[in-house]
Amino acid sequence: MNTTQFDINQIVRENVKGLKPYSSARDEYVSDGSEMIFLDANENPYENGVNRYPDPQQRSLKAVLAEQKNILPQNILLGNGSDEVLDLLFRAFCEPKIDNIITLPPTYGMYNVLANTNDVQNHKILLTNDFEPNVSKILETIDQQTKIIFLCSPNNPTGNSFSEQSIVQILEGFNGLVVIDEAYIDFSTMESWVQKLKVYPNLIITQTLSKAYGMAGIRLGLCYASKEIISVLNKIKPPYNVNELTQRKALERVEDVESVQKEVSNILQEREKMITDLEEIGFIEKIYKSDANFVLVKVDDANVRYDQLLNQGIVIRNRTTQPLCENTLRFTVGTSFENKKLIEALKNL
Ligand SMILES: *Cc1c(COP(=O)(O)O)cnc(C)c1O
Repeated sequence: MNTTQFDINQIVRENVKGLKPYSSARDEYVSDGSEMIFLDANENPYENGVNRYPDPQQRSLKAVLAEQKNILPQNILLGNGSDEVLDLLFRAFCEPKIDNIITLPPTYGMYNVLANTNDVQNHKILLTNDFEPNVSKILETIDQQTKIIFLCSPNNPTGNSFSEQSIVQILEGFNGLVVIDEAYIDFSTMESWVQKLKVYPNLIITQTLSKAYGMAGIRLGLCYASKEIISVLNKIKPPYNVNELTQRKALERVEDVESVQKEVSNILQEREKMITDLEEIGFIEKIYKSDANFVLVKVDDANVRYDQLLNQGIVIRNRTTQPLCENTLRFTVGTSFENKKLIEALKNL
């Protein structure tokens, strides 16, 4: 198997192949900037800032993103959070009850939720003890019905990035789609895989404005892939899936590169401080390396420590039920003040 055999037509669901995208009023007419009278979409004509339908293709936002990422707008699909983008991938490529996917626990919970809601079998191949993909096991598990392998790098909740070598082996050894979820890429020392889209026709990258960009509330997920893959997703996406307020806020934020970078660099400094401080806590047995904006630690008794922190008004994530994560807690890096409170509370337990 190698990527030269990758053929998008072998991967797309039969019912999706034949679909024409729903053509909305605003799809048919694209403004050239001249004054027009819009009597096409049954909107209320009195202007209030949001009385018109949003641009279904988010052209302004994609133009800025394309320039920043050094790709074309046709390589981008935007969704109502990455969660919608991931769901579109299932609906475009995985035949319910027939096809399957591969995920690598412990990882982001949504892949399994979406597999269940789409009635697609999820083959779970545990990460190795150092939280790397078990490449040989993954390649052995692939069958004719395997459509997507989900790699989360940096991975949630472990915090590490997967080695480049493992990812390349998976991309080259699989004729289906490889999704790299880069929700935490802006905190990472690793390069994004976006620049490798031309090399791997089966590569899909997802990112989000929910973490580094500080916009979890507006729900904007991003997907980068070949034009062929993006055009399949465009066929099935709801026409107005990214609302007007989100498009405006997102545009403002992605154009403000300096503020985002400043916040990311503060968070990274705070992360290193948090790690140093956590080393002083007696019941913390292990602090895992982090390439993200959170730190995973192993403690003596995660359930007890979780409840104790909650009683002091500090909400963290207890990951003890996840495979390979027994007695682990996940701390998001907060502001300097919040992190100080966390460390104080831990010291007092
Ligand atoms: C937080 C997170 C996301 C973000 O999802 P949105 O729907 O865009 O908010 C995606 N993937 C992973 C692994 C995450 O941890």
